[in-house]
Amino acid sequence: MALAAPLLRLRLLPLAAFVAVVSLTAAPRRAEAWGKQGHIIVCKIAEKYLSEKAAAAVEELLPESAGGELSTVCPWADEVRFHYYWSRPLHYANTPQVCNFKYSRDCHNSRHQQGMCVVGAINNYTDQLYSYGDSKSSYNLTESLMFLAHFVGDVHQPLHVGFEEDEGGNTIKVHWYRRKENLHHVWDNSIIETAMKDFYNRSLDTMVEALKMNLTDGWSEDISHWENCGNKKETCANDYAIESIHLSCNYAYKDVEQDITLGDDYFYSRYPIVEKRLAQAGIRLALILNWIFGEDKPDGNVIPLQVQ
Ligand SMILES: [Zn+2]
Repeated sequence: MALAAPLLRLRLLPLAAFVAVVSLTAAPRRAEAWGKQGHIIVCKIAEKYLSEKAAAAVEELLPESAGGELSTVCPWADEVRFHYYWSRPLHYANTPQVCNFKYSRDCHNSRHQQGMCVVGAINNYTDQLYSYGDSKSSYNLTESLMFLAHFVGDVHQPLHVGFEEDEGGNTIKVHWYRRKENLHHVWDNSIIETAMKDFYNRSLDTMVEALKMNLTDGWSEDISHWENCGNKKETCANDYAIESIHLSCNYAYKDVEQDITLGDDYFYSRYPIVEKRLAQAGIRLALILNWIFGEDKPDGNVIPLQVQ
């Protein structure tokens, strides 16, 4: 089974021990996610592409408060980041000011514990979820699912794999049209909000429908590429991080300097990237969940999604 490759040591620790080991970790202050809307969009797309088995398992694992909808719990990991302080570095990865991502160099927390970044987290929670159905599983699989759904979103936000020096754009102050923001927040929230206002009548559901239409139309030929990865460790998360740092360099950071005003030129050239990353994250989250909860676990091959 491809995803049951050798585990990181931290992945074998029960959650309580994991908390104890890393709870003293000091992390710099930074934003941690696509905004709430980004995560909801990712999960609404994923829900549409879940297999029957995966949808049933997800429904069983969701807390009652979710009302049977995965998308309602996808922002959860941000809400618990002060409570689960150890989880803060799991929302991102930083590189030493270079436009490539290397797991061995870049996936650690500030105490240099390996695997403590968004890629390690995706591999970790994927692996935990493989124990679904095993009565001896000691994991809280409801939390594993909520973390996984969130972090697959995060790894697709380009600046969640950004430069250490500017904390993924958090320390780069910009004006988004007339409003003071930082570059990270522009990519987490502002581009999505402006697109919703300008194109989708401020409706998240309308935006999700538009992205779904693009998946069956404009992007349909790309989807088979989104499903594959050339650099697989335990999941394809390593490749998603590589894509993100490339997009950070080629789009997010490009031509941006402190105190710059970003307006129409930046918005119109970057929002297609944001929309595509949201859709990719949704498709790939569905793929991972179908894989985990499917009957026949593929041996290194990806079961193609049925895109109608
Ligand atoms: Zn996050």
